[in-house]
Amino acid sequence: MATGDDSLRTMLRVMLQSGLKTKSEPRAYTSEEGLRIAARLRSLSATAFAEKLTVAGFTLSPYAPPHSEDDLSQSCETCMYYVTHRRFCELPELNVPVEKEWSCRLWRI
Ligand code: SF4
Repeated sequence: MATGDDSLRTMLRVMLQSGLKTKSEPRAYTSEEGLRIAARLRSLSATAFAEKLTVAGFTLSPYAPPHSEDDLSQSCETCMYYVTHRRFCELPELNVPVEKEWSCRLWRI
C-alpha cells in the first residue's frame, strides 16, 4: 500500500524528470552558504515543493564534484541527513522523502 511518503516521493521525482530547473551549484561547502540556502528554504511554505527542489538544487543522480581528489560522490545515501529505513531527508528545512541516489546542494557527510 502506498504511503504519503511514497506519493510525495513520486511527485517529486516526476517534477525533476519533467525538467524542473534546479540550482545544483554552487554547493554549500561553507557554513555561510549553507545558512543562506537554509534561510531561503525556511521562507517557503511547507508545501512549496517545486521551490524547495529548485532552491536546494536537487538532482536525480549523485553529484560528482569536479576536480575532486577522491571519488566520493554526493548522494542522499551518503548524507548525514538521510534516514535509510524511511528513504527520507530529515534536514528540517527540507523534510521530504527522497531516493538514495538523489542529491542536493546541502549534502553533508
Ligand atoms: S540534505 Fe542530504 S539527504 Fe537531504 S536531500 Fe540533500 S543530499 Fe539528500
